[in-house]
Amino acid sequence: MPSFGAVEAGGTKFVCAVGTGPEDLPARMEYPTTSPEETLGRVVEFFGEQAKRDSLAAVGIASFGPLDLNPASPRFGFITTTPKAGWRDVDLAGPIRRALKLPVAFDTDVNAAALGEHRWGAARGISTFVYVTVGTGIGGGGMVEGRLIHGVLHPEMGHMRIPHDWRSDPFPGACPFHGDCWEGLAAGPALEARWGGNCRRLPLDHQAWQLEAHYLALGVANLVCTLSPQRIVLGGGVMRQPGLFPLVRRQTLELLNGYIRAGDVIDRIDQYVVPPELGDNAGVLGAIALALDVAKA
Ligand code: ZN
Repeated sequence: MPSFGAVEAGGTKFVCAVGTGPEDLPARMEYPTTSPEETLGRVVEFFGEQAKRDSLAAVGIASFGPLDLNPASPRFGFITTTPKAGWRDVDLAGPIRRALKLPVAFDTDVNAAALGEHRWGAARGISTFVYVTVGTGIGGGGMVEGRLIHGVLHPEMGHMRIPHDWRSDPFPGACPFHGDCWEGLAAGPALEARWGGNCRRLPLDHQAWQLEAHYLALGVANLVCTLSPQRIVLGGGVMRQPGLFPLVRRQTLELLNGYIRAGDVIDRIDQYVVPPELGDNAGVLGAIALALDVAKA
C-alpha cells in the first residue's frame, strides 16, 4: 500500500510526515518557519528522502491562511493576505507539486483538522459539524453534508464579530484587521494582553475565565445558529485549560435560551461541544486525510 505525505504549515513551524493514518506515521519532522524559499526547500528535501524508501501517492498540505483554494484561479495554492512577514502571496502548493511530481491537496489547517477528526476522531459518522481551534488565533473549518466548506474562499470563523461590552472589558482586541473580532477578543494573545502571561494559573471563577467562556460561548452559539452543526469540536491550546469546557457549554446553553430544541444540543451538550481526539497530530493527520482523498479522486 502506498504512503501519503503531509505538510502542516504553521506560522512558527512546518510539520512534515509520511504515513497512512493515526496508527501509521513512521516519519515526522518539524522545521521552523523561516523564509518561504528556505522552509519549502526543507519540505521538498524531506519528501525527496522519503520517496527513496516509500512510494508516495499524494501530498496533502494543511496551511495557515488565508489561502486561494479555487482550482480555476491562477493563484490556486497560494497563501494570500496573511500579516506574517514574507509570506504574503506565496505559492505553497506549486513548488511542492513541481518538485515531487505528485498530486497535491491543499486546504486550510482547520478544514484539514476537521477532515482528520471526521475520518479518525471526534466527528466520525457526523456529516455536518464545525472544528474550531482557540490558540494563538481562532480558526474554524468544518463540513456541511459530508463536504468541507469552501464557498467563495473558506470559512474565517475567527473573524466573526461578537458583542463586546466596552465597560466590563475595555480591552480593544488584538486582531490586526478588526480589533475586537472573536479572535481579537478571545484567542491566547488577547488573554495574555488582558491578564498578563500567567492567566493560566488564575482560578476558574476569576473574571478572566468567566469572560473567556462568555466570548467562546458567543461564537459557539452563533455557529449553532448559522450552520446547524451536529457537533462542535473545540481544540487549541486555550481549550486545554482545565474546567473551561463546562463553562463554555453552560454559557452556550444560556445564550441559546431554549430556542434550539434539538436533543443533541440541549440534552447532550457534553457530547455536543467536545475536544478533538487526534491531539498533537491533528494537523498532519488532517493533511494525510487530504492526500488520501486527492489520490482517490
Ligand atoms: Zn479579526
